[in-house]
Amino acid sequence: MLACEKGCPSCCALRVTATAPEIFLLARYIRQIDQRAPRTALGLLSRRVQLANRTTRGLDEVERMKLREPCPFVVRGACIIHPARPLACRGHASFDRRACSQAMAGRDVDVPVSAPHIALRGLIQDALRSALAEAGLAADLYELNQGLALALDDPARERAWRDGKDSLAPARIEQPPAGQANAMLWSRAADGGAPAGDES
Ligand code: SF4
Repeated sequence: MLACEKGCPSCCALRVTATAPEIFLLARYIRQIDQRAPRTALGLLSRRVQLANRTTRGLDEVERMKLREPCPFVVRGACIIHPARPLACRGHASFDRRACSQAMAGRDVDVPVSAPHIALRGLIQDALRSALAEAGLAADLYELNQGLALALDDPARERAWRDGKDSLAPARIEQPPAGQANAMLWSRAADGGAPAGDES
């Protein structure tokens, strides 16, 4: 049985990557929330993204895991943008909550993750990226905090992307080798090894 549930944000300190349309969709979602509730106790979501980006910009996946900086969308243990979360988050599912906590604490443990979730996420993302490339659009993967900071800072970047420009290029990451799974990242990062690919 899957262990993931509301209130467990253990994996929400991993580096998240996403495609451009996911980032632009999430930027729209954030703007809507900020316009509706600009003075909540949370403050502006766009501001949370900018602050997080200052801390995480340029760090690779192992450095991010060691930093353990929570995603800017974790509030009281829950993801406040859950309906619009990226594919990377949807495809990461664990069978062992304790192992997740231990891995994030730097312990060298194997985290049993759901292979079907990873496979399905990979299939959907590959299909999406193929379609984007075929349409002449930038189809790379981008680090979520930096990509969102760029998209929120200048809404014209979405139009530029739709015109075929790689308007999120500063946030672009090296593409992960095919078939590398989250479990590898957990274990390799825990023992300080070289990056094992991307968590996304
Ligand atoms: S977007 Fe949501 S699910 Fe994904 S890392 Fe951030 S808080 Fe976690």
